[in-house]
Amino acid sequence: MVTARAGVIGHPISHSFSPKLHGRWIEKYGLDARYDPVDGRDEETFVRLVRSFAEDGFVGANVTIPFKRLAYETVDELTETARKIGAVNLLIERDGKLIGDNTDAAGFAAALQSMGLAQTPKRARLLGAGGAAPAIVVALQAAGIGNIEIFNRTHAKAEELSARFGCETGDWERRNEGLEGIDLLVNSTSLGMEGQPPLGVEPMGLPGHAGVIDIITTPRQTALLAAAKARGLKTLNGLPMLVYQAIPSFEAWFGIRPDDPDEAIAFLETAA
Ligand code: NAP
Repeated sequence: MVTARAGVIGHPISHSFSPKLHGRWIEKYGLDARYDPVDGRDEETFVRLVRSFAEDGFVGANVTIPFKRLAYETVDELTETARKIGAVNLLIERDGKLIGDNTDAAGFAAALQSMGLAQTPKRARLLGAGGAAPAIVVALQAAGIGNIEIFNRTHAKAEELSARFGCETGDWERRNEGLEGIDLLVNSTSLGMEGQPPLGVEPMGLPGHAGVIDIITTPRQTALLAAAKARGLKTLNGLPMLVYQAIPSFEAWFGIRPDDPDEAIAFLETAA
């Protein structure tokens, strides 16, 4: 009989790397626990699943597309971070209460720091204004990046995000323009992901000191990252963010803070 259960709830969910990652830590630390992918299917199913955590033996779960906002609206308590971001990616069942937190910003911030850019970026361009974008904006601002410009296909979403956090917006069709003034380019759209159309951004115009992050994990090297690498720019895929957001999740449920991010990232780089 397993004593503690956790998992990742989303739809679809079969592509998630999280069960491999947490499963590796559960084994490494010899815990009597399991971490499973859970198909949240639809809103009603999602709410029913998370509301029966206690009776199903769950200590909590990660939340992924498309339920981060619904999780925010469903929990009993929100952390200050979750409130600021407006989304929940971490659920914790504690004393009969469901707590909603967000570790995506901390995950992105740690990933950015691990890049070891020669200088703190002054101006960043964020592509995308979907579910992952607010956490990235929060992390960029926490890293001291004062100028953030957001480009999104649906301009109204870029405007809304921009207004919330005091950023600028750009016209999606002009996302390749003005790159010479950008120190950090981040893709948070799903373009370039397996089965999705290409992103259509050429990193040729970026200055030589610029960094490029693509938070996509499948494929591990997107066309954007390949082109940036070929130019000699520092790049990062989505795996470091995934690992660094998972560390505080694991700690919140099981009381152990995994201390091997580099090994975990290397493991996911080659995991089937
Ligand atoms: P989302 O809420 O569905 O947002 C998708 C974004 O992509 C929106 O900005 C959307 O623009 C844009 N987009 C989609 N199709 C497009 C198209 N044909 N042309 C132009 N733009 C398009 O997804 P999300 O939660 O933000 O996640 C985005 C990506 O990040 C996914 O690949 C996800 O797997 C990845 N991710 C990685 C991590 C990590 O830890 N590494 C964490 C979270 C997410 P519109 O607003 O115009 O629709």
